[in-house]
Amino acid sequence: MFSKIKNLYTSYFKYEGNEQLTKLSIFFIIALDIFVLTVMNYGIDFQTKVIDNPKAAYSYDCRDTFNNPSDILSHTNYLYTRSDIPNIYDSIKKQELSKVCQTLFSKIEKVKSNIDFTEFKRDFISMSKEKQKIYKKLNTIRKNYNTELFEKMANNSGGNSIVKTRYFDLKNNYDLLVKQIESKKLSFEKNKHVQSLHTFVKSNKHIPELYKELIKNYYVKTRVLEIIFVLPIMLLFLYLSKKFLLEQKYIPHVLTKNLLIVSLIPLTISSCSLLYNYIPHIFIGKVIDFFYSLGVPVLAYYILAAVAILIGYFIILKIQKNDKIKREETKNNKLSFRINFNNNVCNNCLNKIDYFDMNFCPHCADELKVKCNHCDDLKIKSLKFCHNCGNS
Ligand SMILES: [Zn+2]
Ligand SMILES: [Zn+2]
Repeated sequence: MFSKIKNLYTSYFKYEGNEQLTKLSIFFIIALDIFVLTVMNYGIDFQTKVIDNPKAAYSYDCRDTFNNPSDILSHTNYLYTRSDIPNIYDSIKKQELSKVCQTLFSKIEKVKSNIDFTEFKRDFISMSKEKQKIYKKLNTIRKNYNTELFEKMANNSGGNSIVKTRYFDLKNNYDLLVKQIESKKLSFEKNKHVQSLHTFVKSNKHIPELYKELIKNYYVKTRVLEIIFVLPIMLLFLYLSKKFLLEQKYIPHVLTKNLLIVSLIPLTISSCSLLYNYIPHIFIGKVIDFFYSLGVPVLAYYILAAVAILIGYFIILKIQKNDKIKREETKNNKLSFRINFNNNVCNNCLNKIDYFDMNFCPHCADELKVKCNHCDDLKIKSLKFCHNCGNS
């Protein structure tokens, strides 16, 4: 495989005419290929990941919030403490954000500027820890003493032991802390900015559904966008490389042909994934459904294969015909002859031949040599100089 690619490249760059490419030029052409490919990938990346992307319009943080509106009432919700991870498209992504998400984030910002979350959390944690500590102490007493008896005796004045006093002190403290924690939670919930945020989230519960709808069509849209992005570039290079071939300009031809191949890479990937992931699934599914309803699902596969073979056959015929026309166009073109000569293939039928041993192509009888006017020997027909005497 690798040696095949290498052969392709060496024969492709080998040129015995006036303008032979140096190794350095080849290096630059390859570097240019890589550069153009990278730029195109960035373009595709940008086009598809940011522009018109439901994932950008309804970012995860945004759309997820609408799934559980009541979560917004909890001060532990990570939305209040998250910090953004920097991303190269940040500023654009902010512009691509949908109105709903923009409002959501601005409302969250309002809550954050209204409540000091570090202080709030610190207080909350210290209260919870204290509560936990007292609870443990109460449990120890409960294990060692009959606290049920304490409770019963609470109304009577008798039995004022130290343990009993301590138990009730702790219990009061505990109840107080529970109340304090509850009221702190409530104070957060009742904050007018939190309330406004909560109302907003509740009234937009349809966002996750909307997002699902949008993302369904997005995959196909992405592939189409990719193709729309690369197609003009590919067509431009196709036009230029053909133009330079017909004008017999070697270096511009090699350069544009390289770039044509480079632009074909993303184009092929996008087209194939569009074809593979979308069209056949629906089409094949429908065909199989139809035959299944007739009770002969197996037939569907035969017919499908037959249709594919037929279409493939016509496509191949068409390609061959186009290729023939193209060959006719470039038959007398010195540059394409040189490429064929260097590849040891017949200029007329593209079959493998030996230009020095043969006078005619054994496949199509095309004349390969003519008589030299200087040395009366035979020389290669379309090459400028005689290989015997060196005269033109
Ligand atoms: Zn031939
Ligand atoms: Zn000669």
